[in-house]
Amino acid sequence: MLKRAFSSLILAEHNNTKLAGGVYSAINAADYFNEETTVLVAGENCSSVAEEASKIKGVTKVLHYDNPVLKNHMADVMTQTLQAVQTQYRFKRIIGATSQFSRDIIPRLGGVMNTQPISDVVRIMNEKCFKRPGYAGNAIYTVTTHQDFILLTIRSTSFDRNPVSKTASPIERIDLNIPFRPVMTWVSQNLEANERPELGTAKIIVTGGRGLKSKDNWHVVEGLAEKLGAGVGASRAAVDAGFCSNDLQIGQTGKIVAPNLYIACGVSGAIQHIAGMKDSKVIVAINTDPEAPIFSVADYGLVADLFKAIPEIIQKL
Ligand code: FAD
Repeated sequence: MLKRAFSSLILAEHNNTKLAGGVYSAINAADYFNEETTVLVAGENCSSVAEEASKIKGVTKVLHYDNPVLKNHMADVMTQTLQAVQTQYRFKRIIGATSQFSRDIIPRLGGVMNTQPISDVVRIMNEKCFKRPGYAGNAIYTVTTHQDFILLTIRSTSFDRNPVSKTASPIERIDLNIPFRPVMTWVSQNLEANERPELGTAKIIVTGGRGLKSKDNWHVVEGLAEKLGAGVGASRAAVDAGFCSNDLQIGQTGKIVAPNLYIACGVSGAIQHIAGMKDSKVIVAINTDPEAPIFSVADYGLVADLFKAIPEIIQKL
């Protein structure tokens, strides 16, 4: 069995062409340990992703595993892959960015490797001690582990994104010889076409809530987003009412975002929504109700009817 000194393994989320933005933050989190950082790029025909990963500052090495069975990154076969890599290389820890992808894989790996994962880490105190939010961000837990092998997911908005480096680290193409036992079958994928910036990386986000009143009015928030080059987000009430697709949901059960500017339009500011956007640098709220809780986290509040205010803002911009 090989034993190597690579200490952190980053589980890379990607679409076989490009890395997800959170991977850059997971590498930044690994820098804290001041040890070697290896990135695992597993998928099908994903050599361009391995190259991208090799050029990120802080990466010591990239392990590239290509296999058609991993084309859709299903959690069962990805977990088997990670387990095989860990058995061979013996990393001290495996780190993923908190996302649907990691949430599906890291707990499975914890199950098969008898390790309790520590999820959604917002701060690394030391090698064994981490801070993570609870109660929709209203409490921060300090968690200490006594396990030698550690599984972490990190909240991307709490860590910087490592920049691209001038030099590329080596890429090792690996052959794992895994007897895959898929228990899930890939059926299909319906991707929502969204030309707006991705919520995880958008510098400005315009969010619509139930105050938009109907799907026919959704173009009002899209119009403002278009003018500002912003991403579009939604409250759960807006998603549940069918105003937009559910991948736009921000909050405790949606995406966690921290843009430079967050504009909430017709959103009341329920704690479950605030949990997903309160780390935004500047928060603007437009709401007819001066008592709406969103104003308690807003830097700028406009008590106004969004159907009048937004067209005026667009015109002034
Ligand atoms: P409302 O609370 O109905 O607010 C609409 C607002 O629009 C009101 O403040 C009103 O004054 C204003 N308004 C109305 N008309 C206008 C107008 N013309 N101009 C300007 N303002 C106007 N919610 C999330 O968002 N994200 C989550 O991830 C999430 N997760 C949840 C998880 C759990 C377990 C639970 C129980 C709930 C969760 N929720 C989540 C739901 C949350 O509790 C709220 O119900 C939801 O956020 C409300 O959405 P809203 O602000 O759009 O709607």
